[in-house]
Amino acid sequence: MDIQQDIAQNPTIFGKILRGEIPNNTVYEDDRVLAFHDIAPKAKVHVVVIPKLNFASNIGEVTEEHKEYLGYLLVKINEISEKLGVIGGGFRVLTNSGPNSGQEVPHLHFHILGGEPLAGVNG
Ligand code: 5GP
Repeated sequence: MDIQQDIAQNPTIFGKILRGEIPNNTVYEDDRVLAFHDIAPKAKVHVVVIPKLNFASNIGEVTEEHKEYLGYLLVKINEISEKLGVIGGGFRVLTNSGPNSGQEVPHLHFHILGGEPLAGVNG
């Protein structure tokens, strides 16, 4: 589906962010990816990275057809982490999937956590 069309009908809170209905503190944006500071940070640095196309609610819905977009997201996560300055000290990238993980927003996303020791921090 066309990304702008998908954004227009995205029912999640990330849809509201993508449509500009809720403000966000953007770290990085291009035509396929948005990264912003988490509203309730669980670490000194806590950034959420989302694909603009809501192609999966979480990893449990990812299929072969998404691999190019997923690869792009991982490359951007590396670049964003570099920009955030968390790589040298060590950092964590995680994605919650489904009720047992405590996932709140049903739009695939990755948390970048860092800037301090992360024992027990799970996003
Ligand atoms: P999940 O629990 O689904 O893996 O992660 C969703 C994340 O989105 C949570 O860490 C939560 O704090 C963050 N979040 C939810 N609503 C907003 C919002 O309106 N703005 C921002 N910046 N983050 C949000």
